[in-house]
This record gives sequence, structure tokens and C-alpha cells, in this order.
Amino acid sequence: MPELPEVETIARALRGQVVGQAVRAAQVRWPRAVATPAPDEFVAALVGRRITAVGRRAKFLVLTLAPQGYLLIHLRMTGRLLYEAAGADPRPLDGHTHVSLYFQGGGALHYHDQRKFGRLYLVGDPDEVLRGLGLEPLEASPEQFAALLRARRRQIKPLLLDQHVLAGLGNIYTDESLWRAGVHPLRRADTLAAADVSRLYEAIRAVLTEAIANKGTTLRDYRAPNGETGENQWSLAVYGRAGEPCPRCGQAVQRVVVGSRGTHLCPQCQSL
Ligand code: ZN
Repeated sequence: MPELPEVETIARALRGQVVGQAVRAAQVRWPRAVATPAPDEFVAALVGRRITAVGRRAKFLVLTLAPQGYLLIHLRMTGRLLYEAAGADPRPLDGHTHVSLYFQGGGALHYHDQRKFGRLYLVGDPDEVLRGLGLEPLEASPEQFAALLRARRRQIKPLLLDQHVLAGLGNIYTDESLWRAGVHPLRRADTLAAADVSRLYEAIRAVLTEAIANKGTTLRDYRAPNGETGENQWSLAVYGRAGEPCPRCGQAVQRVVVGSRGTHLCPQCQSL
């Protein structure tokens, strides 16, 4: 599932591809891909609007439209955005291409989603969808981060995954951050010492920043809008590496289940 670094990579790539483009036509082939408004209204409202910015909030892509409105996209499990440049051979559309935007200057942006969990939202105010999301991990201050953990009796991993607390982390980067900080995923947040909290804050920032520099992690489905895979899968320390030696101490990485999520950790570096 794309997490913050993958969505950020897509946003950066799309910025160079679609900013300034005006929508000539749009097509919705699987109506439920559009969460709001109704699909025919979605198509009618998009035609003639120009994309003026591409941003990201948590795991949402946020496309700013002129003269008004925002197109928000959440890719969930297997959603992909595929950009087709003007003059390029049209992509063969398979049965998983659920929405397409065609631009006035030629070219297109296709929303492709094999498992169909992703959604598009066309709204007047992004807060209609984004309201309630927690802090951005790369924008929170150390004090804000510490305040999120303080007095919370929940286990640290489910807490970090909770998008209402901290927004953008998923299973991969949570496991990598906890390993880097030497914090066991089952530790209760309110039992972490100040030094643990500060190491975790730095670890999350470093893990996310490195993953963005590596253009995201492709384990299976994630692709950039040009179809390329990310490179960060080669840098993962514990995620998906059960039985392999911990890069820090050599102990075998363990896989356990925490709150129904497969979780990877080093029993030596992350003691409970
Ligand atoms: Zn270790």
C-alpha cells in the first residue's frame, strides 16, 4: 500500500506532468471509484478546469483546480496514476483503468486500481475529506510529537498507524522506524522514556526522508506515474525480512502480528 513517501513521489512527478493542463474530457468506467460527487456530475464539473498545483496531505494526493475546486485521490492498496504524455502512443487500457482525464493539449492521466479500494473526490474544500487527519510526520516538531505519545496507553505501533494521530505512516515505515529507534512495537506509548521518544521522532523523519529520496518502496504494486518502480525496497532493514540477520546486531528478524498487522522486529535491538 502506498504510504507517505510513495504518495510524495507521485505528487512530485505529477507536478511536472499535469500542472497547467486543462481537462478536455473525463471518463469514469467504474462508478464507485468516484466517492463524490455522482460520476456524471464529476465528469461534467472537471471538464474545462485547469490543474494549478499538485500537493500531498497524509496519503492523499491533492490537485488544486482553477477556477475552483480540488481533486483528491487516495490510492489505498493498489491504486496507480499513470501519465500519458501528449503525442505518446496511447496506453492500452485494461479492465482496471477506472477513471481517465484527457487534457486539452493532448495527453491523459489514468487512474488504475486492481483491487478497487482507492477513491477520487472532487470537492470545493479539501477539508471536507481531510478533516480529522493527524499531524504530518515531517512537519511536526519534536514537542508536538512527544505530546501525541504522552498519556496514551495504546501500544506504540497501532498508535503510529492511526491516521488521526499521525498521518501518512503505514505498515512498512512504522516497522522500519521502530527498528531504527530500537523501540518494540508493543511498548505502551506512555511508558516510553524521553530518550526513546526523541529517537523515534528522528527515526521516523530519517526513514521517510530516505524513502522519498529513493522514490518509494515497490514490493508489488507501487509504480510512479511513468510506470517505474521505487528503489527503497533495497534499503529496508526489517520489513519483509523475517529470518534474515538484523543489519545492526545479526539476530534473526522476527515476524509477529500486532493488531492484525504483520510486524517485523529485531528481538535483540527492540526489547520489550
Ligand atoms: Zn538487531
